[in-house]
Amino acid sequence: MATKSNIDAHKCCKCKTTKCLKLYCVCFVAESYCTEACSCKKCCNLLDYEDTVEVACEQAKVRNPLAFSTKVHSLDQVYDL
Ligand SMILES: [Zn+2]
Ligand SMILES: [Zn+2]
Ligand SMILES: [Zn+2]
Repeated sequence: MATKSNIDAHKCCKCKTTKCLKLYCVCFVAESYCTEACSCKKCCNLLDYEDTVEVACEQAKVRNPLAFSTKVHSLDQVYDL
């Protein structure tokens, strides 16, 4: 599952209140874990929280089936949490 080779395209987020488990997080939407390059706070989008991330991901997909297939370009402007 973690064998995607799009690391170069990985984006950094700066979530402060969503624990990076919401669609506001570019990392979460990209289905990748946050990295040290991210400036998020209280992040739960980490390998340590694998189960939590998986559940949140499933829930997000149920709520927003299109969210993960739609490329969002300007999340920063809209959701600058
Ligand atoms: Zn985030
Ligand atoms: Zn991140
Ligand atoms: Zn994060």
